[in-house]
Amino acid sequence: MIEFKNVSKVYPNGTVGLKDINLKIDRGDFVVIVGLSGAGKSTLLRSINRLHEITDGEILIDGKSITAARGKSLLRIRRDIGMIFQNFNLVKRSSVLRNVLSGRVGYHSTIRTLLGLFPKQDIELALTALDRVNIKEKAYSRADELSGGQQQRVSIARALAQEAKIILADEPVASLDPLTTRQVMDDLKRINKELGITTIVNLHFIDLAREYATRVIGIRDGEVVFDGPVEEATDEK
Ligand code: ADP
Ligand code: ADP
Repeated sequence: MIEFKNVSKVYPNGTVGLKDINLKIDRGDFVVIVGLSGAGKSTLLRSINRLHEITDGEILIDGKSITAARGKSLLRIRRDIGMIFQNFNLVKRSSVLRNVLSGRVGYHSTIRTLLGLFPKQDIELALTALDRVNIKEKAYSRADELSGGQQQRVSIARALAQEAKIILADEPVASLDPLTTRQVMDDLKRINKELGITTIVNLHFIDLAREYATRVIGIRDGEVVFDGPVEEATDEK
């Protein structure tokens, strides 16, 4: 469902982010990308939904090139992709529900959503999404009143409300304590199983990767140095 064909990314200042990456990720996979800071994990993830442009090669999603997509077809592909960030990227002063509803923006005309007008079924969808990550009772709290782990669950709910088919999580637990880390990873894994959402998670700890992933991709200096089942992943790689 996600395919990298000879993908390279060189930043404008000449830094090589990715070097000739070839990868296929199947529908419903739960893949963890591991590597040290600066290895290229974030560059790889951000290339998938074109948060930035690659400089060579092509990325296909369900057989369609997101690299070549323009205008509406790009928006349509992006709508299927939910992003989760280390710092949650919530609108702090808005309610949890409003934050989750922002996942619905791509389904409506901009003017209605700017005015905050979402149909009733969107609100139900948002509440169901919050329920799935066990945080529905916080729907009317302000986002910044929640703990880090709770905020990350809200951002997962936002991806669910978006009806994303793919979730890209860039170091989603990097700022969380060990217990909360597990809760967030458990949520991601459960959603992957229950809804079949293809999930790619960047982590810098191999032990967490071992525990959760069915497939681990190790990267170093922008290159894939390991790709295989979790049992075979070692620290050296
Ligand atoms: P994040 O870690 O939140 O994903 P960025 O994607 O902005 O943050 O940066 C990732 C890495 O790239 C960091 O190590 C940062 O120092 C480096 N970086 C970011 N912007 C530049 C730049 N313009 N030139 C060189 N290195 C950069
Ligand atoms: P990771 O997510 O594994 O920490 P990144 O993908 O953020 O690694 O970074 C890969 C390489 O690209 C690093 O050398 C980093 O400094 C560089 N880099 C990241 N963002 C930028 C940028 N905006 N401009 C220049 N170099 C960057």
